[in-house]
Amino acid sequence: MICMNCKKQTPDAEVHCRHCGVRLDLTFDEISAKLGKQIHSEQQDRTEAFIRWVLLFVMILVCGGVIFKSFWATPPVTTLTPGYMPLHTIPIQWQPIHQPLVIRE
Ligand SMILES: [Zn+2]
Repeated sequence: MICMNCKKQTPDAEVHCRHCGVRLDLTFDEISAKLGKQIHSEQQDRTEAFIRWVLLFVMILVCGGVIFKSFWATPPVTTLTPGYMPLHTIPIQWQPIHQPLVIRE
């Protein structure tokens, strides 16, 4: 007989498993109840693992979207105007002279 708990071979005459000590003379109802609980817990573990992967995938999508959006954000309209340069980006020697330059001959 093969033990349900440890899956090792045990002589048929034994009442308890030689390796793990589990009772071997279980009725069909006891065995089916034990298997039912085992299958239910395995299904629950698989469902939890699936939900964890889905949540991880959604988090990666959201983070990737935020990063993508930050790299390829629409620039402000003023930078789309041809020839426009914000004043703080112009070097000081290029800035317009407010007094007209008078050339005397
Ligand atoms: Zn056993």
